[in-house]
Amino acid sequence: MYQVIIVGGGLAGACLALALSQHAQGSITTAVIEALPPARQTPAEDDRAIALAHHSCQQLAQLGLWPLVAAKATAIRSIQISETHCSALATLRAEAYRLPALGQVVAIQTLRQQLARLLTTAAGVTVYAPAEVVSVTPQADQVLVQLQPGEVLSGQLLVIAAGSRSPLSQQLALRYHCWDHHQHAIIATLSTEEPHRGRAFERFTREGSLAILPKTVEQCALVWCQPQERQQQLLALTDQAFLQQVQQVFGWRLGALSQLQRRQSYPLSTQVAVRPVGHRWVAVGNAAQTLHPIAGQGFNLALRDVLQLAECLISAWSQQQAIGTYQLLDDYRQRRQGDQQRMVRFTQGLLQLFGSQQPLSKVSRQVGLHLFDSTPFVKNRVASWLLGTPAW
Ligand SMILES: Cc1cc2nc3c(=O)[nH]c(=O)nc-3n(C[C@H](O)[C@H](O)[C@H](O)COP(=O)(O)OP(=O)(O)OC[C@H]3O[C@@H](n4cnc5c(N)ncnc54)[C@H](O)[C@@H]3O)c2cc1C
Repeated sequence: MYQVIIVGGGLAGACLALALSQHAQGSITTAVIEALPPARQTPAEDDRAIALAHHSCQQLAQLGLWPLVAAKATAIRSIQISETHCSALATLRAEAYRLPALGQVVAIQTLRQQLARLLTTAAGVTVYAPAEVVSVTPQADQVLVQLQPGEVLSGQLLVIAAGSRSPLSQQLALRYHCWDHHQHAIIATLSTEEPHRGRAFERFTREGSLAILPKTVEQCALVWCQPQERQQQLLALTDQAFLQQVQQVFGWRLGALSQLQRRQSYPLSTQVAVRPVGHRWVAVGNAAQTLHPIAGQGFNLALRDVLQLAECLISAWSQQQAIGTYQLLDDYRQRRQGDQQRMVRFTQGLLQLFGSQQPLSKVSRQVGLHLFDSTPFVKNRVASWLLGTPAW
C-alpha cells in the first residue's frame, strides 16, 4: 500500500510528489500515475509558456527544479498595463521592490520534462506512465485506484491532480462553482523588431486581454483572450494577417511584430471546487481551481497549495498520525482558503472591470489606472499578489 497516490503528473501533481520525497526523504511512499507516456510527458502540441512569480521561482529552487530550467527562463523586469482607446498606463517595475525580476517566463514543456526527470530518481516515488486511472474508491481506511492496464493500487490518501474536467472528480461527487467566459486564449510565439528587455505587457481590449511576455532573448509569447467566434476567425487568418491584427491592438511598443510561430487555442473557464477535500482524498491544481489566465496565477497558486499540503502531510507523518483523514485534509483546506479566495476574486475582478463596456466603467478604469500607478499602497498590494508573496 502507498501512503499517497497522486493521479496526474502535470505541474501540480509532480511538484507535490517532489516536495513529499524531499521533505520526508523517501519515507512517504508515493505513486504518481500519469496518462501520458514518459517520452513525451507533455503533449507535443502544448507550446504554452507560463509566467512564474518571483516567489514561485524561489520555491521551485528549493525543490531542486529551478537550476534545471533557469537557463531556459526569461526574466520579467517590468509589467506595463494599458487599455486600448485609453491614454492611462500603469507600470510595475522589479527595481521598485529591490528585485532583479518580478518573475520568469518558462515553457510548460521545459518544466514538465525536468520534473519528470527529477521524479525518476526521487526517493520513495514510483511513477506509473503511461497509465490511466479509470476509477477511484475511497474506503474507511484506504482508497482503491483502478488503472487502465488492469492493476489496482491502494493508498492512504488520494490526490486528484488530473486537471480540469476530470471524470474522476464526478466519481468523488466533487462539485464546482463554474463561470464560462465564452472565450478562448490564442497563444503563439513571435519576434519583435525592438528587443523586449524583459518588458511584459498586459493590454485590455473591448473583447478580451492581450498579453505579450518575454519568452527568449529574441522572442515573445502572445496570450490573446478572445470570444469564441472571433477566435475562430483569427485562427483562420494567414500569419501575416494575424500579425497585423495583433499589431493593431498592441501597437508599436516593440516595433514591428514578425515571424509568427504556430497558433494554438485553449478554451477558458473558471472552475472552483466547492470543497476540494473529502475523506481520504484531496484535489489540487486545476482539479481544485482552474483560473482564467488574465493574471497568470493558475500554477503560482497551485504551487503554494501543494507545498502547504506537503507540509501538512509531513507534519502528520512525523507525529505518526494517519495522513488521509478528513480532519487533516480540512485543516489544509482552511489554511489555503484565504489565498485561494483572494486569487479567484482578483482574477474575476480583473475580468469584470476590464470586460465591462459601460461608459462609467470606462471612465473608472482610466481613473483607476492613473490611481493605481500613483498610489503605492494599492500598487504594492497588487505587486505582492503578482510576486507570489501575498501580504494581507
Ligand atoms: C493559456 C494559458 C496560459 C496560462 N498562463 C499561466 C501563467 O502565466 N502562470 C500561471 O501560473 N499559470 C498559467 N496558466 C495555468 C497553468 O497552465 C495551470 O495552472 C497548470 O498547468 C495546471 O497544472 P495541473 O497539473 O493542475 O493540470 P494539468 O496540466 O492539466 O495536468 C493534469 C495531468 O493529469 C493527467 N491525467 C488526467 N486524467 C488522468 C487520469 N485519469 N489518469 C492519469 N493521468 C491523468 C493529464 O495527462 C495531465 O498530464 C495558464 C493556463 C492557460 C490555459
